[in-house]
Amino acid sequence: MWRVYIRRMTVDDYRALSAFDIHHRVTSGTTSAREFAQHALELAESTGRELNAFITICTDKALAQADDIDRNVAAGESVGPMAGVPIVLKDNISYRDYPLTCASKILNGYVPPFDATAAVRLVEAGAVIIGKANMDEFAMGSSNENSAYGPVHNPVDHSLAPGGSSGGSAAVVAAGIVPIAYGSETGGSVRQPAAFCGTYGFKPTYGGISRFGLVAFASSCDVISPLARDPRDLALAYKVASGHDHNDSTSLDFEHPDYPNDLELGRKLTIGVPADYFPPELDSDVRAVVDKAIDALKTAGHSIVDVKSPMSRMAIPIYYIVASAEASANLARYDGVRYGKREGADLALHDMYAATRAKGFGDEVKRRIMLGTYALSSGYYDAYYQKASDVRQLLREEFARLFDEVDLLITPTSPTPAFKLGERIDDPLAMYLSDMYTAPSSLAGNPAISIPYGSVPDGRPVGVQLIAALKDDRTLFQAAASLA
Ligand code: GLN
Repeated sequence: MWRVYIRRMTVDDYRALSAFDIHHRVTSGTTSAREFAQHALELAESTGRELNAFITICTDKALAQADDIDRNVAAGESVGPMAGVPIVLKDNISYRDYPLTCASKILNGYVPPFDATAAVRLVEAGAVIIGKANMDEFAMGSSNENSAYGPVHNPVDHSLAPGGSSGGSAAVVAAGIVPIAYGSETGGSVRQPAAFCGTYGFKPTYGGISRFGLVAFASSCDVISPLARDPRDLALAYKVASGHDHNDSTSLDFEHPDYPNDLELGRKLTIGVPADYFPPELDSDVRAVVDKAIDALKTAGHSIVDVKSPMSRMAIPIYYIVASAEASANLARYDGVRYGKREGADLALHDMYAATRAKGFGDEVKRRIMLGTYALSSGYYDAYYQKASDVRQLLREEFARLFDEVDLLITPTSPTPAFKLGERIDDPLAMYLSDMYTAPSSLAGNPAISIPYGSVPDGRPVGVQLIAALKDDRTLFQAAASLA
Protein backbone atom coordinates (compact mmCIF):
# COMPACT_ATOMS: atom_id res chain seq x y z
CA MET A 1 0.00 0.00 0.00
CA TRP A 2 1.26 3.51 -0.81
CA ARG A 3 1.21 6.25 1.71
CA VAL A 4 1.54 9.92 0.89
CA TYR A 5 3.67 11.90 3.29
CA ILE A 6 2.44 15.42 3.23
CA ARG A 7 5.33 17.68 3.96
CA ARG A 8 9.04 17.38 4.27
CA MET A 9 10.05 18.84 7.57
CA THR A 10 12.98 21.20 7.92
CA VAL A 11 16.13 20.10 9.63
CA ASP A 12 15.33 22.43 12.56
CA ASP A 13 11.93 20.79 12.96
CA TYR A 14 13.70 17.45 13.13
CA ARG A 15 16.28 18.58 15.67
CA ALA A 16 13.59 19.81 18.04
CA LEU A 17 11.81 16.45 18.19
CA SER A 18 12.09 13.91 20.97
CA ALA A 19 12.28 10.18 20.33
CA PHE A 20 8.65 9.99 21.44
CA ASP A 21 7.62 12.63 18.88
CA ILE A 22 9.47 10.79 16.12
CA HIS A 23 7.93 7.47 17.08
CA HIS A 24 4.49 9.05 17.10
CA ARG A 25 4.93 10.62 13.68
CA VAL A 26 6.28 7.44 12.15
CA THR A 27 3.60 5.15 13.57
CA SER A 28 0.79 7.56 12.70
CA GLY A 29 2.12 7.83 9.15
CA THR A 30 2.72 11.59 9.40
CA THR A 31 6.41 11.40 8.52
CA SER A 32 8.33 8.45 7.15
CA ALA A 33 11.13 6.77 9.02
CA ARG A 34 13.18 7.27 5.84
CA GLU A 35 12.77 11.03 6.07
CA PHE A 36 13.95 11.00 9.67
CA ALA A 37 16.88 8.78 8.76
CA GLN A 38 17.83 11.12 5.92
CA HIS A 39 17.80 14.14 8.22
CA ALA A 40 19.94 12.34 10.76
CA LEU A 41 22.37 11.08 8.10
CA GLU A 42 22.71 14.52 6.49
CA LEU A 43 23.37 16.09 9.87
CA ALA A 44 25.88 13.34 10.62
CA GLU A 45 27.75 14.12 7.38
CA SER A 46 27.74 17.88 8.04
CA THR A 47 27.63 18.80 11.75
CA GLY A 48 28.78 15.36 12.83
CA ARG A 49 31.91 15.49 10.67
CA GLU A 50 32.67 19.05 11.78
CA LEU A 51 32.57 17.90 15.40
CA ASN A 52 34.53 14.75 14.46
CA ALA A 53 31.86 12.88 16.39
CA PHE A 54 31.65 9.86 14.09
CA ILE A 55 34.05 7.10 13.23
CA THR A 56 31.59 5.38 10.89
CA ILE A 57 28.29 6.51 9.36
CA CYS A 58 26.05 3.55 8.56
CA THR A 59 24.09 5.04 5.64
CA ASP A 60 23.04 1.92 3.73
CA LYS A 61 21.88 -0.16 6.65
CA ALA A 62 20.15 2.84 8.27
CA LEU A 63 18.09 3.57 5.15
CA ALA A 64 17.22 -0.12 4.75
CA GLN A 65 16.09 -0.26 8.40
CA ALA A 66 13.99 2.86 7.95
CA ASP A 67 12.37 1.44 4.82
CA ASP A 68 11.52 -1.75 6.72
CA ILE A 69 9.77 0.29 9.40
CA ASP A 70 7.83 2.28 6.80
CA ARG A 71 6.73 -0.93 5.09
CA ASN A 72 5.57 -2.42 8.38
CA VAL A 73 3.68 0.72 9.34
CA ALA A 74 2.04 0.86 5.91
CA ALA A 75 1.06 -2.80 6.18
CA GLY A 76 -0.52 -2.17 9.58
CA GLU A 77 1.93 -4.47 11.34
CA SER A 78 3.00 -3.73 14.86
CA VAL A 79 6.32 -1.94 15.28
CA GLY A 80 8.49 -1.44 18.35
CA PRO A 81 8.65 1.44 20.84
CA MET A 82 11.60 3.05 19.04
CA ALA A 83 10.21 2.66 15.52
CA GLY A 84 11.98 5.09 13.21
CA VAL A 85 14.08 6.77 15.90
CA PRO A 86 17.62 7.52 14.64
CA ILE A 87 20.25 6.57 17.21
CA VAL A 88 24.05 6.32 17.48
CA LEU A 89 26.22 3.68 19.17
CA LYS A 90 29.64 4.29 20.66
CA ASP A 91 32.28 2.51 18.62
CA ASN A 92 33.00 -0.06 21.31
CA ILE A 93 29.57 -1.67 20.78
CA SER A 94 29.56 -4.43 18.23
CA TYR A 95 27.38 -3.82 15.17
CA ARG A 96 27.67 -6.43 12.44
CA ASP A 97 29.08 -5.50 9.01
CA TYR A 98 30.57 -2.19 10.17
CA PRO A 99 34.08 -1.72 11.57
CA LEU A 100 34.46 -1.83 15.34
CA THR A 101 37.46 0.34 16.17
CA CYS A 102 37.28 1.38 19.84
CA ALA A 103 39.09 4.42 18.37
CA SER A 104 42.26 2.32 18.37
CA LYS A 105 44.67 1.60 15.56
CA ILE A 106 45.03 -1.93 16.88
CA LEU A 107 41.54 -2.81 15.66
CA ASN A 108 42.17 -1.48 12.15
CA GLY A 109 40.36 -3.69 9.70
CA TYR A 110 38.29 -5.58 12.28
CA VAL A 111 34.65 -6.04 11.33
CA PRO A 112 32.64 -7.91 13.97
CA PRO A 113 30.66 -10.92 12.82
CA PHE A 114 27.92 -10.39 15.41
CA ASP A 115 25.73 -7.74 17.05
CA ALA A 116 25.92 -6.72 20.69
CA THR A 117 22.79 -7.81 22.57
CA ALA A 118 21.92 -4.14 23.08
CA ALA A 119 22.14 -3.54 19.31
CA VAL A 120 19.88 -6.53 18.66
CA ARG A 121 17.30 -5.21 21.12
CA LEU A 122 17.44 -1.70 19.69
CA VAL A 123 16.93 -2.87 16.13
CA GLU A 124 14.07 -5.11 17.25
CA ALA A 125 12.51 -2.06 18.92
CA GLY A 126 12.68 -0.27 15.56
CA ALA A 127 15.62 2.06 16.21
CA VAL A 128 17.59 3.14 13.14
CA ILE A 129 21.33 3.02 13.83
CA ILE A 130 22.91 5.82 11.82
CA GLY A 131 26.49 5.61 12.99
CA LYS A 132 29.27 4.68 15.38
CA ALA A 133 30.54 7.46 17.63
CA ASN A 134 34.09 8.57 18.22
CA MET A 135 35.46 7.94 21.73
CA ASP A 136 38.62 7.74 23.79
CA GLU A 137 40.67 4.71 22.82
CA PHE A 138 39.19 1.64 24.54
CA ALA A 139 37.05 4.04 26.63
CA MET A 140 40.05 5.31 28.57
CA GLY A 141 39.86 9.04 29.02
CA SER A 142 37.82 12.02 30.14
CA SER A 143 38.20 14.41 27.20
CA ASN A 144 37.94 12.33 24.02
CA GLU A 145 41.47 13.36 23.11
CA ASN A 146 42.81 9.79 23.33
CA SER A 147 41.21 8.74 20.05
CA ALA A 148 43.29 7.49 17.11
CA TYR A 149 40.71 9.37 15.00
CA GLY A 150 41.36 12.74 16.66
CA PRO A 151 39.44 14.63 19.33
CA VAL A 152 35.72 15.35 19.31
CA HIS A 153 34.64 18.99 19.66
CA ASN A 154 32.04 20.09 22.16
CA PRO A 155 28.99 21.43 20.26
CA VAL A 156 28.56 24.16 22.91
CA ASP A 157 31.94 25.65 21.93
CA HIS A 158 34.29 23.85 19.56
CA SER A 159 37.38 24.78 21.57
CA LEU A 160 36.05 22.82 24.55
CA ALA A 161 36.47 19.12 25.25
CA PRO A 162 33.18 17.21 25.02
CA GLY A 163 34.23 15.04 27.96
CA GLY A 164 35.02 11.39 27.65
CA SER A 165 35.22 8.67 26.96
CA SER A 166 31.78 8.78 25.27
CA GLY A 167 32.42 12.27 23.86
CA GLY A 168 31.10 11.43 20.40
CA SER A 169 27.86 10.01 21.80
CA ALA A 170 27.32 13.14 23.92
CA ALA A 171 28.15 15.48 21.02
CA VAL A 172 25.67 13.87 18.59
CA VAL A 173 22.85 14.20 21.12
CA ALA A 174 23.75 17.76 22.16
CA ALA A 175 24.06 18.84 18.52
CA GLY A 176 20.61 17.48 17.70
CA ILE A 177 21.83 14.85 15.24
CA VAL A 178 19.93 12.11 17.08
CA PRO A 179 17.67 12.23 20.15
CA ILE A 180 19.31 9.19 21.79
CA ALA A 181 22.82 7.77 21.74
CA TYR A 182 24.52 4.99 23.64
CA GLY A 183 27.91 5.21 25.24
CA SER A 184 29.55 3.09 27.88
CA GLU A 185 30.45 3.76 31.48
CA THR A 186 33.30 2.35 33.48
CA GLY A 187 33.95 5.31 35.76
CA GLY A 188 31.85 8.20 34.47
CA SER A 189 32.23 8.10 30.71
CA VAL A 190 28.62 8.95 29.96
CA ARG A 191 27.69 11.17 32.90
CA GLN A 192 30.76 13.41 32.56
CA PRO A 193 30.38 14.07 28.79
CA ALA A 194 26.64 14.54 29.31
CA ALA A 195 27.46 17.25 31.88
CA PHE A 196 30.07 18.86 29.60
CA CYS A 197 27.73 18.98 26.59
CA GLY A 198 24.48 19.80 28.41
CA THR A 199 22.54 16.56 27.91
CA TYR A 200 21.15 13.87 30.19
CA GLY A 201 23.35 10.85 30.79
CA PHE A 202 22.46 7.71 32.70
CA LYS A 203 24.57 4.92 34.15
CA PRO A 204 22.36 1.93 34.97
CA THR A 205 22.82 -0.36 37.94
CA TYR A 206 25.74 -2.62 37.02
CA GLY A 207 24.34 -5.46 34.91
CA GLY A 208 21.27 -3.48 33.84
CA ILE A 209 22.22 -3.77 30.16
CA SER A 210 24.00 -6.81 28.78
CA ARG A 211 27.73 -6.40 28.16
CA PHE A 212 27.66 -9.01 25.40
CA GLY A 213 29.24 -7.27 22.41
CA LEU A 214 30.56 -4.33 24.46
CA VAL A 215 34.35 -4.38 24.20
CA ALA A 216 35.69 -5.09 27.70
CA PHE A 217 37.70 -2.41 29.51
CA ALA A 218 37.17 -3.04 33.26
CA SER A 219 34.55 -5.76 33.29
CA SER A 220 33.49 -5.30 36.91
CA CYS A 221 32.40 -1.71 36.17
CA ASP A 222 31.55 -1.64 32.44
CA VAL A 223 27.95 -0.93 31.50
CA ILE A 224 26.36 0.35 28.28
CA SER A 225 24.71 3.67 29.14
CA PRO A 226 22.39 6.01 27.22
CA LEU A 227 22.32 9.79 26.65
CA ALA A 228 19.30 11.86 25.62
CA ARG A 229 17.92 15.38 25.66
CA ASP A 230 14.97 14.66 27.95
CA PRO A 231 14.27 12.26 30.83
CA ARG A 232 11.50 10.38 29.04
CA ASP A 233 13.70 9.56 26.04
CA LEU A 234 16.44 8.52 28.42
CA ALA A 235 14.06 6.21 30.27
CA LEU A 236 12.91 4.74 26.96
CA ALA A 237 16.52 4.24 25.90
CA TYR A 238 17.21 2.25 29.04
CA LYS A 239 13.99 0.25 28.96
CA VAL A 240 14.54 -0.96 25.41
CA ALA A 241 18.16 -2.05 25.92
CA SER A 242 17.84 -3.50 29.45
CA GLY A 243 17.09 -6.99 30.69
CA HIS A 244 18.70 -10.33 31.32
CA ASP A 245 20.78 -11.93 28.59
CA HIS A 246 21.97 -15.52 28.71
CA ASN A 247 25.15 -14.39 26.90
CA ASP A 248 26.15 -12.25 29.89
CA SER A 249 25.99 -13.97 33.25
CA THR A 250 26.43 -10.62 35.03
CA SER A 251 23.32 -9.14 33.43
CA LEU A 252 20.60 -8.65 36.03
CA ASP A 253 17.64 -10.97 35.98
CA PHE A 254 14.67 -8.98 37.24
CA GLU A 255 11.53 -7.41 35.82
CA HIS A 256 12.36 -3.82 34.87
CA PRO A 257 9.56 -1.29 35.36
CA ASP A 258 8.15 0.47 32.32
CA TYR A 259 10.46 3.42 33.00
CA PRO A 260 9.25 5.92 30.35
CA ASN A 261 5.61 5.47 31.34
CA ASP A 262 6.28 5.55 35.05
CA LEU A 263 7.79 9.01 35.48
CA GLU A 264 5.36 10.36 38.07
CA LEU A 265 7.22 10.72 41.34
CA GLY A 266 4.06 10.53 43.59
CA ARG A 267 6.05 10.42 46.88
CA LYS A 268 8.39 12.53 48.96
CA LEU A 269 12.02 11.51 48.97
CA THR A 270 14.86 11.79 51.43
CA ILE A 271 17.85 13.14 49.57
CA GLY A 272 21.34 13.08 51.03
CA VAL A 273 23.91 15.79 50.39
CA PRO A 274 27.30 14.14 50.98
CA ALA A 275 29.70 16.77 52.34
CA ASP A 276 32.61 14.82 50.85
CA TYR A 277 31.46 15.80 47.35
CA PHE A 278 31.43 19.51 48.22
CA PRO A 279 34.96 20.35 49.38
CA PRO A 280 35.93 24.03 49.69
CA GLU A 281 37.97 23.73 46.45
CA LEU A 282 34.86 22.85 44.42
CA ASP A 283 34.29 25.37 41.60
CA SER A 284 31.90 27.88 43.17
CA ASP A 285 29.83 28.30 40.00
CA VAL A 286 29.32 24.54 39.79
CA ARG A 287 28.34 24.50 43.44
CA ALA A 288 25.80 27.28 42.85
CA VAL A 289 24.05 25.21 40.16
CA VAL A 290 23.87 22.15 42.42
CA ASP A 291 22.56 24.33 45.27
CA LYS A 292 19.82 25.56 42.95
CA ALA A 293 18.76 21.96 42.27
CA ILE A 294 18.83 21.19 46.00
CA ASP A 295 16.58 24.22 46.61
CA ALA A 296 14.16 23.10 43.92
CA LEU A 297 13.91 19.66 45.52
CA LYS A 298 13.39 21.20 48.94
CA THR A 299 10.66 23.47 47.59
CA ALA A 300 8.97 20.41 46.07
CA GLY A 301 8.69 18.99 49.60
CA HIS A 302 11.54 16.47 49.65
CA SER A 303 13.70 16.21 52.76
CA ILE A 304 17.28 17.21 52.28
CA VAL A 305 19.71 15.74 54.80
CA ASP A 306 23.46 16.04 55.31
CA VAL A 307 25.31 12.74 55.03
CA LYS A 308 28.92 11.61 54.98
CA SER A 309 30.58 9.40 52.42
CA PRO A 310 34.26 9.37 53.37
CA MET A 311 34.96 6.24 51.32
CA SER A 312 33.97 8.13 48.17
CA ARG A 313 37.23 10.02 48.55
CA MET A 314 39.04 6.75 47.99
CA ALA A 315 37.29 6.17 44.68
CA ILE A 316 39.93 7.63 42.36
CA PRO A 317 42.84 5.61 43.75
CA ILE A 318 40.72 2.44 43.88
CA TYR A 319 39.36 3.01 40.41
CA TYR A 320 42.70 3.61 38.72
CA ILE A 321 44.14 0.44 40.25
CA VAL A 322 41.15 -1.84 39.71
CA ALA A 323 40.25 -0.52 36.25
CA SER A 324 43.86 -0.61 35.04
CA ALA A 325 44.33 -4.12 36.41
CA GLU A 326 41.25 -5.41 34.63
CA ALA A 327 42.21 -3.52 31.48
CA SER A 328 45.66 -5.07 31.43
CA ALA A 329 44.06 -8.52 31.45
CA ASN A 330 41.26 -7.69 29.01
CA LEU A 331 43.57 -6.06 26.48
CA ALA A 332 45.95 -9.01 26.40
CA ARG A 333 43.82 -10.42 23.59
CA TYR A 334 45.01 -7.79 21.10
CA ASP A 335 48.09 -9.62 19.94
CA GLY A 336 48.09 -9.29 16.17
CA VAL A 337 46.67 -12.80 15.81
CA ARG A 338 43.03 -12.63 16.80
CA TYR A 339 41.85 -9.16 15.78
CA GLY A 340 42.65 -6.37 13.36
CA LYS A 341 46.12 -5.03 12.85
CA ARG A 342 49.31 -7.13 12.65
CA GLU A 343 52.70 -5.48 12.70
CA GLY A 344 55.94 -7.36 11.92
CA ALA A 345 54.35 -10.40 10.30
CA ASP A 346 57.80 -11.70 9.36
CA LEU A 347 59.11 -11.55 12.94
CA ALA A 348 59.20 -14.32 15.53
CA LEU A 349 55.98 -14.68 17.54
CA HIS A 350 56.89 -12.61 20.60
CA ASP A 351 58.46 -9.89 18.52
CA MET A 352 55.34 -9.75 16.37
CA TYR A 353 53.16 -9.38 19.52
CA ALA A 354 55.41 -6.60 20.80
CA ALA A 355 55.54 -4.78 17.46
CA THR A 356 51.75 -4.99 17.05
CA ARG A 357 51.03 -3.69 20.54
CA ALA A 358 53.72 -1.00 20.39
CA LYS A 359 52.31 0.40 17.15
CA GLY A 360 48.64 -0.37 17.75
CA PHE A 361 47.97 1.09 21.20
CA GLY A 362 48.08 4.78 22.06
CA ASP A 363 49.93 6.27 25.03
CA GLU A 364 47.06 6.29 27.54
CA VAL A 365 46.19 2.65 26.86
CA LYS A 366 49.84 1.70 27.29
CA ARG A 367 49.98 3.64 30.56
CA ARG A 368 46.95 1.71 31.88
CA ILE A 369 48.35 -1.64 30.78
CA MET A 370 51.62 -0.90 32.56
CA LEU A 371 49.91 0.35 35.73
CA GLY A 372 47.57 -2.64 35.74
CA THR A 373 50.28 -5.21 35.08
CA TYR A 374 52.32 -3.71 37.89
CA ALA A 375 49.38 -3.76 40.33
CA LEU A 376 48.75 -7.43 39.52
CA SER A 377 52.35 -8.59 39.55
CA SER A 378 53.26 -11.14 42.23
CA GLY A 379 55.34 -8.80 44.39
CA TYR A 380 52.76 -6.00 44.39
CA TYR A 381 49.39 -7.72 44.16
CA ASP A 382 48.73 -7.58 47.91
CA ALA A 383 49.87 -4.00 48.26
CA TYR A 384 47.87 -2.67 45.33
CA TYR A 385 45.21 -4.82 43.71
CA GLN A 386 44.17 -6.66 46.87
CA LYS A 387 44.20 -3.47 48.94
CA ALA A 388 42.15 -1.62 46.32
CA SER A 389 39.64 -4.47 46.17
CA ASP A 390 39.29 -4.45 49.97
CA VAL A 391 38.71 -0.70 50.07
CA ARG A 392 36.24 -1.05 47.21
CA GLN A 393 34.26 -3.43 49.40
CA LEU A 394 34.20 -0.80 52.17
CA LEU A 395 32.89 1.72 49.65
CA ARG A 396 30.13 -0.70 48.62
CA GLU A 397 29.15 -1.19 52.24
CA GLU A 398 29.12 2.55 52.84
CA PHE A 399 26.77 3.03 49.88
CA ALA A 400 24.51 0.23 51.15
CA ARG A 401 24.30 1.92 54.56
CA LEU A 402 23.64 5.33 53.04
CA PHE A 403 20.77 4.00 50.97
CA ASP A 404 19.18 2.53 54.08
CA GLU A 405 18.78 6.15 55.17
CA VAL A 406 18.19 8.09 51.96
CA ASP A 407 16.52 7.52 48.59
CA LEU A 408 19.02 9.53 46.58
CA LEU A 409 22.32 11.31 46.89
CA ILE A 410 22.80 14.62 45.11
CA THR A 411 26.25 15.78 43.98
CA PRO A 412 27.92 17.61 41.11
CA THR A 413 28.59 15.29 38.14
CA SER A 414 32.03 16.76 37.60
CA PRO A 415 34.11 19.16 39.72
CA THR A 416 34.41 21.63 36.81
CA PRO A 417 32.52 22.45 33.62
CA ALA A 418 34.07 21.49 30.26
CA PHE A 419 37.75 22.39 30.01
CA LYS A 420 39.56 23.38 26.82
CA LEU A 421 40.83 20.76 24.40
CA GLY A 422 44.54 20.40 25.07
CA GLU A 423 44.34 21.85 28.57
CA ARG A 424 44.83 18.62 30.52
CA ILE A 425 46.30 16.26 27.99
CA ASP A 426 49.78 16.44 29.50
CA ASP A 427 48.55 16.06 33.06
CA PRO A 428 47.01 12.61 33.50
CA LEU A 429 46.35 13.16 37.20
CA ALA A 430 44.27 16.28 36.57
CA MET A 431 42.44 14.30 33.88
CA TYR A 432 41.79 11.39 36.27
CA LEU A 433 40.38 13.78 38.89
CA SER A 434 37.52 14.75 36.62
CA ASP A 435 35.99 11.35 37.50
CA MET A 436 36.05 11.91 41.26
CA TYR A 437 32.27 12.23 41.58
CA THR A 438 31.31 9.51 39.11
CA ALA A 439 33.81 6.78 40.01
CA PRO A 440 32.30 5.93 43.45
CA SER A 441 28.96 4.71 42.05
CA SER A 442 30.75 2.93 39.19
CA LEU A 443 32.79 0.94 41.71
CA ALA A 444 29.80 0.22 43.94
CA GLY A 445 27.52 -0.63 40.98
CA ASN A 446 24.84 1.93 41.87
CA PRO A 447 22.79 3.68 39.18
CA ALA A 448 23.31 7.41 38.65
CA ILE A 449 22.13 10.14 36.33
CA SER A 450 23.57 13.45 35.18
CA ILE A 451 20.95 16.15 34.73
CA PRO A 452 21.73 19.32 32.72
CA TYR A 453 20.73 22.00 35.18
CA GLY A 454 21.98 25.35 34.04
CA SER A 455 25.41 26.70 33.36
CA VAL A 456 28.25 28.76 34.74
CA PRO A 457 28.25 32.50 33.83
CA ASP A 458 30.26 31.97 30.61
CA GLY A 459 27.62 29.54 29.34
CA ARG A 460 29.34 26.20 29.87
CA PRO A 461 26.75 23.61 30.99
CA VAL A 462 26.76 22.06 34.45
CA GLY A 463 25.49 18.61 35.34
CA VAL A 464 23.84 17.69 38.62
CA GLN A 465 24.24 14.05 39.59
CA LEU A 466 21.71 11.91 41.44
CA ILE A 467 22.75 8.47 42.69
CA ALA A 468 20.26 5.79 43.79
CA ALA A 469 20.24 2.43 45.55
CA LEU A 470 21.09 -0.68 43.56
CA LYS A 471 18.28 -1.56 41.11
CA ASP A 472 16.37 1.62 41.94
CA ASP A 473 17.04 3.15 38.52
CA ARG A 474 13.39 4.18 38.27
CA THR A 475 13.63 6.81 41.02
CA LEU A 476 16.40 8.53 39.05
CA PHE A 477 14.20 8.98 35.96
CA GLN A 478 11.33 10.14 38.13
CA ALA A 479 13.43 12.66 40.05
CA ALA A 480 15.01 13.91 36.80
CA ALA A 481 11.56 14.36 35.28
CA SER A 482 10.42 16.28 38.35
CA LEU A 483 13.36 18.69 37.96
CA ALA A 484 12.88 19.19 34.21
N1 GLN B 1 37.55 8.68 32.56
C1 GLN B 1 37.60 7.38 33.15
C2 GLN B 1 38.79 6.62 32.62
O1 GLN B 1 39.54 7.20 31.92
C3 GLN B 1 36.32 6.67 32.93
C4 GLN B 1 36.25 5.99 31.65
C5 GLN B 1 34.96 5.27 31.44
O2 GLN B 1 34.01 5.41 32.20
N2 GLN B 1 34.96 4.45 30.40
O3 GLN B 1 38.99 5.49 32.89
